[in-house]
Amino acid sequence: MSDDCLFCKIIAGDVPGDMVLETDRVVAFRDIAPKAPVHVLVVPRTHVANVAQAAREVPDELAEMAQVAQRVADAECGGQFRLIFNTGSRAGQSVFHVHGHVIGGGELEWNPA
Ligand code: AMP
Repeated sequence: MSDDCLFCKIIAGDVPGDMVLETDRVVAFRDIAPKAPVHVLVVPRTHVANVAQAAREVPDELAEMAQVAQRVADAECGGQFRLIFNTGSRAGQSVFHVHGHVIGGGELEWNPA
């Protein structure tokens, strides 16, 4: 746990979070400012800063985050979703405890492909 980390505090129960799903290694809670009908954050209990560090240091947790994202989407938006990892402040990352944004529901407007 990192003392200054908002998501560590949510995981510990020191800051309220709207929990959706929890496993031994991963928690999922609703984003406080949703950008889509379904907007849930999947977060490993282990504090690592970003997705690349997660891949290096806690690959099993990263894999479980993807599985939890699928479970959230299965329950809430027909199993179809985007999983977005903002990485670095200039890419929009504001909380430096890795989290995947599970985005779904309705028609998603932006398509980079
Ligand atoms: P990012 O900007 O990719 O680092 O994503 C951080 C996300 O955390 C943003 O979408 C925020 O809306 C969300 N957020 C900030 N504070 C909270 C909170 N207390 N509970 C849930 N989500 C939060």
